[in-house]
Amino acid sequence: MILLDGKCLSNQIKEEIATEISALYEKDSSHKIGLAVILVGDNLASQIYVKNKITACLHVGIKSFQYNLKESTTDDELLTLIDELNDDDNVNGILVQLPLPPHIEEEKILAKIDPLKDVDGFTPYQVGLLTIGQKSFVPCTPKGIITLLERNKIEIAGRHAVIVGRSNVVGKPLMQLLLQKDATVTICHSKTKNLSDITKSADILIVAVGKPCFIKADMLNQGVILVDVGINRVDGRLVGDADFENVKDKCAYITPVPGGVGPMTITMLLQNTVEAYYARKNR
Ligand code: NAP
Repeated sequence: MILLDGKCLSNQIKEEIATEISALYEKDSSHKIGLAVILVGDNLASQIYVKNKITACLHVGIKSFQYNLKESTTDDELLTLIDELNDDDNVNGILVQLPLPPHIEEEKILAKIDPLKDVDGFTPYQVGLLTIGQKSFVPCTPKGIITLLERNKIEIAGRHAVIVGRSNVVGKPLMQLLLQKDATVTICHSKTKNLSDITKSADILIVAVGKPCFIKADMLNQGVILVDVGINRVDGRLVGDADFENVKDKCAYITPVPGGVGPMTITMLLQNTVEAYYARKNR
């Protein structure tokens, strides 16, 4: 079994990004790449994610603009802020940390972000581009998964990739990316019948369900490549959607939790922000 070490790879890619940005600033010191991060309310997990994103920006030389808004923020207040950030030349990327409080209409808020600043790839415009296979900002977690596979020289073309979970953030965009890489893709969800029969037929299995230790050894084919997206807190520690100790001997490759997909997600956000800078500059 080989561990797919997302922490190590993401550190390596962060250094590559930092080098690229410092060369850019040396050429033209008037330019700065900027990312606006909006957090609404006081969800503890979201606060930690935002803090990690800001720290990562600082590390590579991206200027971050943080907006911590109170839980009672209205749709209109949030839309006004996004309008201002859309017009602000210092801001190349806008990220609205999800989930938003239930009274806020998430789809309306995301649709307001200028597609050229949509570094999360959640606006309908970017989702559309991805679906028809055109250049787009790719959502960070699926992009991180593909990067993790490719940088570890894992072949995707012709393989049967099974995704468990069909969220807009992970499962659906990942399906598009795997198709573009010529995998044969099956996507499963809570209404899928005979799930084990399908997971057993996977060469590459990606699990994004949000249920601790959901995937067990008897659901896997020997030699599977297992990517565990899940982040679940159990008794004060983080565990994935796969039962790591139970499944590891069945896997040719497996991502750990923590230290697998999570760090890759943040690093892809930095990459998308740099891409957004160039997209705007070359408009
Ligand atoms: P989500 O929106 O809650 O979606 C969960 C998916 O799992 C749904 O499609 C659901 O099916 C499916 N599901 C639930 N129970 C199932 C079952 N018994 N059998 C088969 N499918 C089942 O979750 P998400 O946002 O994609 O996140 C999933 C997990 O990944 C969470 O633990 C989250 O914290 C983690 N995550 C990690 C990262 C990272 O950077 N590592 C990023 C994003 C998310 P239905 O559609 O039928 O309801």
